[in-house]
Amino acid sequence: MTTLEHVKALKDTECIADVLKKEISVNPCKDCGKCTFGYEGITQLEMIMNDITERKGRGGDLELITDLCGMMREQSLCEEGEKIAEAVLTAIELYRKDFEDHIGKKGCRAGVCKKFMTYHILADMCVGCGDCIDECPEDAIIGKKKFVHIIVQDECTQCGKCVSACDEEAIVTAGAVKPRCPKKPIPCKKR
Ligand code: SF4
Ligand code: SF4
Repeated sequence: MTTLEHVKALKDTECIADVLKKEISVNPCKDCGKCTFGYEGITQLEMIMNDITERKGRGGDLELITDLCGMMREQSLCEEGEKIAEAVLTAIELYRKDFEDHIGKKGCRAGVCKKFMTYHILADMCVGCGDCIDECPEDAIIGKKKFVHIIVQDECTQCGKCVSACDEEAIVTAGAVKPRCPKKPIPCKKR
């Protein structure tokens, strides 16, 4: 399947930014260098797409990609540069909202990009032992003994260290659909 075919047949379980990142990473332009637009274009595209999937996207990225791909499509010496540019332009046309959600830090619809996964403590599983607090390097967890603990999303860096600290398996990750959790510590039901 070509990149363009893959873009057009994207599954619900796939993330368009992740698909393009992987396709770009194996594109022949990266190892060619015979034309500036192909080589420089793919290098720039790879950096931007990596940033978008790593939660480092910036306003203006889509315009930059569109300009870049427009030039690659017109000026690359062979069809490799033209084809990847066409696929990326088609992706932006078909899935603009998915890109905007990544860049605006709202999330990854398909739940594929790990940096967009969030960590949560399930209220009916937590026994309020406090082990997760001790493990969190960001002080992103609040709670006290025998109270359900809470992860403060703005402070969490998605390192995952708290998950292995919890013997109760109360800490889970979530993509687009988030579990319902209390907003502040409440007494534990589980003892
Ligand atoms: S989430 Fe797990 S480690 Fe943290 S207080 Fe609750 S039971 Fe203990
Ligand atoms: S994922 Fe890391 S930063 Fe987030 S709450 Fe758990 S230990 Fe803290």
